[in-house]
This record gives sequence, structure tokens and C-alpha cells, in this order.
Amino acid sequence: MNHDVIVLGAGLAGLAAARDLAAGGADVLVVEARDRVGGRVEQASLPDGRLVQLGGEVVGRAHTAYTALVAELGLTLTPSYVAEPGALTRATPEGVSAADPPHWFGPGDDACHRKVTAAFCALAATVDPDAPWSHPDATALDRLSVGAWLRAEGASPAVVRLWEIGQLALADGSFERTSLLAALRKHARVPGSGQYDYEAWEGLRVAEGSATVALRMAAALGGRVRTGAPVEAVTVRRTGGCSVRLAAGETLTADAVVSALPVGPLRAVAVTGVSEERLASLHHQRQALAAKFVAAYDRPFWRGHGRSGLSECEGVLGSTWPQSDGILSALVPPERFAVLLGTPAHLRTRELLDDVARLYGDEAHRPLATYVRMWGTDPWTQGYVTQWTPGDVTAVGPLHGTHEPPFYVCGSDQWVAGYMEGAVRTGRDAAGEVLRRG
Ligand SMILES: Cc1cc2nc3c(=O)[nH]c(=O)nc-3n(C[C@H](O)[C@H](O)[C@H](O)COP(=O)(O)OP(=O)(O)OC[C@H]3O[C@@H](n4cnc5c(N)ncnc54)[C@H](O)[C@@H]3O)c2cc1C
Repeated sequence: MNHDVIVLGAGLAGLAAARDLAAGGADVLVVEARDRVGGRVEQASLPDGRLVQLGGEVVGRAHTAYTALVAELGLTLTPSYVAEPGALTRATPEGVSAADPPHWFGPGDDACHRKVTAAFCALAATVDPDAPWSHPDATALDRLSVGAWLRAEGASPAVVRLWEIGQLALADGSFERTSLLAALRKHARVPGSGQYDYEAWEGLRVAEGSATVALRMAAALGGRVRTGAPVEAVTVRRTGGCSVRLAAGETLTADAVVSALPVGPLRAVAVTGVSEERLASLHHQRQALAAKFVAAYDRPFWRGHGRSGLSECEGVLGSTWPQSDGILSALVPPERFAVLLGTPAHLRTRELLDDVARLYGDEAHRPLATYVRMWGTDPWTQGYVTQWTPGDVTAVGPLHGTHEPPFYVCGSDQWVAGYMEGAVRTGRDAAGEVLRRG
């Protein structure tokens, strides 16, 4: 049977695209490698009924595509950990403190930090987030790492360290290996106070659970989503009759194909019938590899220490934050992912809890449940969020996030910086393009 559209991947992007295509009257089929939907949003339940988010979790008020979808699905947005009372904790080898400015700052560092932050925000305002390539200094800004730019601006080592601990807290790649142009583009897309505005990017969460967004869309699509169906080859024909070959050998046909695959797994799919430039641009993109750690407790004991649960750390963990009452999330950034991989599996939880105990005390060692989710080595993700190393923005170029009908692309990698907003926005945009072209 020939379909109007086959969507590859049942993450937020693929499901959002399929939902709009179905609403527009298209006969759509979603094919998904895993035996579940949601991709990088996934949740588990504790025996007491609390949901635990193992992947994407929080969004910001500027994430309008995502927040609009949540409203359409009848779900509720509620303030995230950003509204938690208490102080941010910073942990480095020489100390743990809730001090502001941080404990490693000396005279002049705070003023220096404010000066480079203002310079960064001003420079970001000169970048068009939809077309960073059009900046008159695009090549030079892309070639420079954020770390190199900071030093050129006169940032002290203490200030560079503060920027780096914040970047690794997000589990993005090191600022020493991040394109300045990419960082400016991200800020230009969601401007805010400081280099990264927690409220603007992370101030909200879905009360019913972030993965429920994907589950609701999949439930409405019903039999139009096929799980356990990894795609291994796609042949695109401009005259229609595109084909999608599944690993099990079956071939499906459609007039159009929407790829909603992360850039890593996409590289393993043999795509023919689209231009070399299209594929080269997609195949140049990369992901930051990360792991998520979650420890569920009976109560948010960190509050007793005057701490919010939000931390930025230089241990194996890069950050912690409370995802909901008594449940603490944590990320292992790419720079430390290899350390976790090298740790025997049976020691990982214990050692990660040691990091949490260093922040909030011994009670950290008595969780009700823990989860270690190695997203970086998950074959169907191979990452976490998009990583732009120096030179990548110009190498990926203006084809980023564009389509070559009847081959359409979406997914969080096709937005400025990953995130659930990127998935939903690009998924809905791709569906709109397909429907517009009939
Ligand atoms: C630990 C973690 C924490 C995060 N935290 C946040 C957060 O707090 N806020 C936020 O906004 N974002 C966060 N993100 C990012 C966000 O979750 C993702 O950017 C977003 O969910 C990606 O959606 P997607 O549909 O583009 O890709 P995915 O969710 O990766 O979906 C792609 C789908 O394609 C499938 N697939 C892969 N290969 C094949 C194949 N060959 N054949 C068929 N199917 C295939 C995959 O199984 C998957 O289901 C986080 C991500 C992780 C991993």
C-alpha cells in the first residue's frame, strides 16, 4: 500500500509532524526503531505513582511551538525547578559553596564577568538566528571557540571557569570546543539576562510528565505508528514513489518522506535520490554525548540545607536539579561521559551518589530508586543535544533545517540548539511544508 507520507522516527519531531499531517488529511505512517515512542523523552513510574523523567524535561516561556502543542493536547504547564527556593550550589575540587560570586573568584573577577557577559549579549544581538551565515564576520566568529573569544576579551581564568562550569552543567560540549557563532545564535534565538537565562530556557515543565506529550500524540495516531521498525535505506524519487526499506527487509512506499531522525542514527541510513549537498550538510552535524542520572527520594532533603537542588559541578556530574517533589535529576556532560563509560556498571550509581552527597549530605546515599540512562551510547540517539564545534555552523550552512521535496527533514538537530522546542517546531514546520506542496 502506498502512503502519502512516511515519517521516520517517533520522537517529538516525528510525532508532531505526523499529527499535523493526519489533521491535514494525509495518509501518514510513522516508522520507529524502538519498541516505544518518544525517543529522547521517556518516563518511568515509581511504586508511589510519581513519574520520573529520564530524558527531556523542562522548557522555557520562549519555547512557543512546544507550549502551544502542550495546550492543544490539553496538558498543563507548571513552573519548573527554576522557581524552587534556596541557593544554587557550585562544587569544584577545592570546595562546595552556595556563594555568589563563586568561591574561586578573586578581586576584579566579578566585574570582568559582567563586562564579558555584556559584550557577549551585544554581539549576539548582531546575529540573525535564522541565518547566522549572513553575518559579515560569520566565518571568523564560527572559527573561534567561546573559550578563545573570552580570553581575547580579557576574561580572567576564573571567569572562563565560571562560563565552562555553566556550559557543562547543561551537558553541552566544552566552550573550548564550541563555535562562538553557534553560541551567539542560540542567545539570539532566546535572548535573556546573562549568557544563558535559566528562566527563559527552563522555567516550565509539563505537570503530567514531559514524555506524556509524546504518548498523547502517539495515542491519537493509533495504528499510524509502527514501532520495532528500524529503517535502513530510503530512496527518494521526485516523481513520487519514494521507498523506505526496513531492517527486517520489508519495503514501504510513499509520495514523500519526512526524516525525524537524530543526525547520528541518520548517518547509518542509506539515503539515495537527494543532492550530495543536502546529505553533506546533514552528515556534518554532530551531537554532544551525555548521560542522565536520576535519584528519587521520599522528600527534597536538600531544602533542609538551604539549597534549591540546582547545582553546577566539576565532578563526573555536571549538574543537578529537582525535577519534581523529592526527585533529583543530574547530567553527565560529554567531557566526563567517557569517565562514566569507563566505570564498571555496578559501581556507577554508587559513585554518582557520592557526587550528590558531596553537594547535599549523606542522605543522598538513601534513594528509593535510581536510574542511569546512557543516551550517548544509545544506538537510536547517539547523543543528547546538537553540538556545534568551531567551523560547524558554516560547514552545515544555509541548508540547515531546509527540505528537498519530497525529502523533508525535521528534528531538534534542525533547530539552533536541540531541545524539545526544536523538535516540535521543526516537526510542525515540515508537516506544513508537505501539506503546502500538496
Ligand atoms: C538526558 C536528556 C535531557 C534533556 N533535557 C532536555 C530538557 O530539559 N529540555 C529540552 O527542551 N530538551 C531536552 N533534551 C533534548 C530533547 O529531549 C530532544 O532534543 C528532543 O526530545 C529530540 O526530539 P526528536 O524528535 O528531534 O529526536 P528523538 O527524540 O531522538 O527522536 C528520534 C526517533 O528516531 C528513532 N530512530 C533513530 N534511528 C532510527 C531508524 N534508523 N529507524 C527508525 N527510527 C529511528 C529513535 O528511536 C527516536 O525515537 C534532553 C535530552 C536528553 C537525552
